[in-house]
Amino acid sequence: MLKINQLVKKYGDNLVLNGVSGEVQAGQVIVVIGPSGGGKSTLLRCLNRLEDPTSGQILFEGTDLMTLSEKQLDQIRTKMGMVFQNFNLFPNLTVLDNLTLAPQKVKKESAAETTAKAKALLERVGLADKADAYSDQLSGGQKQRIAIARALAMSPDVLLFDEPTSALDPEMVGEVLKVMQDLAQEGMTMVVVTHEMGFAREVADEVWFMADSQIVEKGTPEAIFDHPQEERTQQFLAKVL
Ligand code: ATP
Ligand code: MG
Repeated sequence: MLKINQLVKKYGDNLVLNGVSGEVQAGQVIVVIGPSGGGKSTLLRCLNRLEDPTSGQILFEGTDLMTLSEKQLDQIRTKMGMVFQNFNLFPNLTVLDNLTLAPQKVKKESAAETTAKAKALLERVGLADKADAYSDQLSGGQKQRIAIARALAMSPDVLLFDEPTSALDPEMVGEVLKVMQDLAQEGMTMVVVTHEMGFAREVADEVWFMADSQIVEKGTPEAIFDHPQEERTQQFLAKVL
């Protein structure tokens, strides 16, 4: 579904992605872990070209994203949902309108259709009763579940998560991870940057350990957590596990 080849990203002299390659199959959950500053967010943002890679190749469903115009990219981005650390809900819209806005504007779906879909998605994330609420009336965990529902409202082919639980109070982390785990079980293709090692171990099909602008090591959760091959991986895990 998604293939990246020798991706390089420089900010001035700062080499932030130093030849990163990898493949995401349909239905797979990839969890990206690693120390701060290693390039995880940059990689994620390059995948949907929110960030312009300096060189390399990104193939999404067979299309080379590096060759597309901004207009073509907008089309592609509708298929790549993104969930951020800080929710980014529209504060002046109700929850329901947050979910129906993009499908109506971008995909030209009808109000009836998007409203029905939004209500089903709210049900799915356990927040059917919040349709008319505004984001400042929601807890952090609720906001993030709404943000996930909003991403799903576009019927994306892949969901990209950048530390979706890092801004949450500890007691709200579980409810968000549960929604993500359910999505994984339903076969959603996901790339998840997170520091939640329990989630990585339980839900990931493959873990990518990123440090110093590279993917140092890739493998099953068992391989990465129980038998890391690289010293850099071992050092990191010794600190976080
Ligand atoms: P964290 O775990 O703290 O989120 P990360 O692995 O996501 O870290 P990135 O945010 O991708 O790391 O940053 C990698 C490097 O790129 C850092 O050195 C950072 O300072 C630099 N960087 C990121 N975004 C920019 C930018 N817009 N302009 C310049 N440098 C940037
Ligand atoms: Mg980051």
